[in-house]
Amino acid sequence: MYQILPLDQPEAKLIQTCLPATYTKLSSQSSFTAMSPNVQEKLKVVIVGAGFCGLTAAIECQLRGMHPILVEAYPGASSHGDLLDFVPNAGRVFDSWDDGKVGEKLLAAGVNRAKTLDFYNQDNVLLKSDPWPQGIDLKGTFAGHRGAMHEIVYNYAKQIGVEMRFKSKVVEYLDSDDERGVVISGTGEKILGDVVLACDGPKSLARSQLLGLPESRVNSGYAIFRAFFQITDEMLKDPFMAELTRKDQDTTRFWVGKDMHGFIYTWNEGRDCAWVLTHLDDADIQESWSFPARKQDVLFYLNQAGFPEVWRRVLALTPEDGIVDYKLVWRDPLTTWLSPSKKCAVMGDAAHCHLPTSANGACQAVEDAATVAICLEKSQGDVALALQVFERVRFNRSHVIHQASISTRNIYHKNDWSLEMVKKNPDSLIMPLLDWIMDFDCQKVAEENYDRLAQDVLLGKPGTIEELSIPAGGNYDSMNLT
Ligand SMILES: Cc1cc2nc3c(=O)[nH]c(=O)nc-3n(C[C@H](O)[C@H](O)[C@H](O)COP(=O)(O)OP(=O)(O)OC[C@H]3O[C@@H](n4cnc5c(N)ncnc54)[C@H](O)[C@@H]3O)c2cc1C
Repeated sequence: MYQILPLDQPEAKLIQTCLPATYTKLSSQSSFTAMSPNVQEKLKVVIVGAGFCGLTAAIECQLRGMHPILVEAYPGASSHGDLLDFVPNAGRVFDSWDDGKVGEKLLAAGVNRAKTLDFYNQDNVLLKSDPWPQGIDLKGTFAGHRGAMHEIVYNYAKQIGVEMRFKSKVVEYLDSDDERGVVISGTGEKILGDVVLACDGPKSLARSQLLGLPESRVNSGYAIFRAFFQITDEMLKDPFMAELTRKDQDTTRFWVGKDMHGFIYTWNEGRDCAWVLTHLDDADIQESWSFPARKQDVLFYLNQAGFPEVWRRVLALTPEDGIVDYKLVWRDPLTTWLSPSKKCAVMGDAAHCHLPTSANGACQAVEDAATVAICLEKSQGDVALALQVFERVRFNRSHVIHQASISTRNIYHKNDWSLEMVKKNPDSLIMPLLDWIMDFDCQKVAEENYDRLAQDVLLGKPGTIEELSIPAGGNYDSMNLT
């Protein structure tokens, strides 16, 4: 638990001078309770972007007695999507909400009755079956339709009264002591606060406006076809589709081949199907959530990689307008996530845009969001201190996982997978979800490290951000991927 420093200590004086004039100190006892009535003004947290990062930050700030204002360009909860997997490093944050009810809803909506994740090569040879989920029990593991899960989290934000401003595209970030916040497109309205959390995704405007960074987009050279649809009785007449689905069990399958890998999931008593297929981006498509894909293009890549007939059948049954082609863009790691004032931060994909092969980009975004709320609460109004500690808690861990998304993709795509090879190297073909990633409790780590890191910041401890940040929590050596 955070100790309030005796007022005669220099660190305590420093904290006091940094308090915003209008801000009344939050009690460290206020966690998960509403602000006490005698508190005159809550810390105003302007959060841009209602993806999983922004929504989680808003919920956690609200639960910790702050006043978050969530600003989102889209008109409502996102229905985008196909597959998204949350594993316990993020799932335990969702599980902590509403006495576990949010977690129950996420579980009910998703893939919760699969027994194995089956790996195949391009010849449809079953290479291995891992237990599903990667852990033993389902606690904190939520997989399924991205849009459905997003709506559940959005509904909880609404339920606890988070102020949300949809259809509000931010065109300018403000970061001066007179005005800190954002300007909305069209109306020119300013939404101001004590701190700005820019969770504005891979194409972040905040990165250039707040951090002064040029666009650092690097085409990964790959894109991903994505589809979700409901399986009809008619579709089940197809023997391939029938084989893929079970009434009493969800199925999760993964195919890997040269320059291509893909998943097909079926769930909801065999009524929901989603598939994603990572392929070479020869056409250099646009970076967009909704760039439509043509079946003939998907077929081209399936044939090129020699993927098995089941893929062609599933493609044929997928509704014509139900496939998008999503460009996979890589952005180099940032050297800092904070604006010069240290009162604005970029987070989630805006700070570290993972390729899907890390299988943990959204989870890392949730870790960022849960951590920043704890730091803001503990800093008692000193937002510059809060954000510097936040960055030091998160930097190394997110960096290591971010980088791994490239190496994992290369391992999938550059090997010639055969049964013999996988038997000889059983750890060579796995999801990069190791224990040190999934068992990580970001909230506990933030709680435990806040005081020490705050002292480092206040005393001006010298060093690079890598040296000043806590270790990543693990590495990928045990994947034995070479
Ligand atoms: C195909 C694919 C599969 C993936 N699978 C997984 C997985 O299984 N597990 C996992 O953990 N991760 C996965 N990821 C990664 C994951 O999707 C992202 O890391 C995560 O969604 C990032 O969340 P975010 O909130 O930071 O950003 P986003 O979800 O991009 O949200 C940003 C939000 O900001 C809004 N916004 C942007 N600019 C403005 C503006 N100027 N004004 C107002 N609003 C704005 C956007 O409209 C958007 O709603 C996958 C990614 C892809 C592409």
